[in-house]
Amino acid sequence: KTFQELNLPKHLLDAIFAMGFDRPSAIQEEALPRILADPPRNLIGQAQSGSGKTAAFTVGMLYRTVVDEPPTTQALCVTPSRELAIQIFEKAVRPMAANMVGLKIQLAIKGTDIEKGQKLVAHIVIGTPGKIVAWLKNKKINAKTIKVFVLDEADNMVAEGGHRANSLLIKKHMPKYCQSLLFSATFPKDVVQFADKMIYKADKILI
Ligand code: AMP
Repeated sequence: KTFQELNLPKHLLDAIFAMGFDRPSAIQEEALPRILADPPRNLIGQAQSGSGKTAAFTVGMLYRTVVDEPPTTQALCVTPSRELAIQIFEKAVRPMAANMVGLKIQLAIKGTDIEKGQKLVAHIVIGTPGKIVAWLKNKKINAKTIKVFVLDEADNMVAEGGHRANSLLIKKHMPKYCQSLLFSATFPKDVVQFADKMIYKADKILI
């Protein structure tokens, strides 16, 4: 398959080619039809880093996001570390959003803060569980408008202290019908149980 055959909007197709991607990777070919489906489908994907999973879920976040003004938060990506959040922002979301004029992306990691009394003003949020829970609890993030919820590296979420509980808390804030995309390199029993708690009725894909 080609990217053209996946029915991506032109602005995303142009950005993908500008990033130097010629053809979808195996996981992208499997995942994108589901990610772009109408009605949206939930997904649990087994994917190693290097598989192209980041670009797959980034397409999903950008595809569903309408660049409104003032911005409403429409996509949330949760990842286990600060470094990964920055990488997703810089290497995937920002370049792929190159043609989305006015799109605002916010990192939610240690060191980023929203001024007292201010609310988050971003269409897309990428961050770590602790910070996102804090911003959901103090209502900096309005979760009601979120359409796509991404949970990256679920196996690391389960392994690292505190992330599992925080991830489940985040999930509780998500609107009932938002699209959920969960990725993990491995699926030992505890991760399978975690994924089942995080996502209701998901298509499972394995690469
Ligand atoms: P990831 O698995 O998301 O960590 O991505 C691994 C690397 O593959 C990143 O450097 C991406 O920029 C790159 N990549 C993602 N999709 C493609 C593609 N379709 N063609 C070529 N490179 C890609």
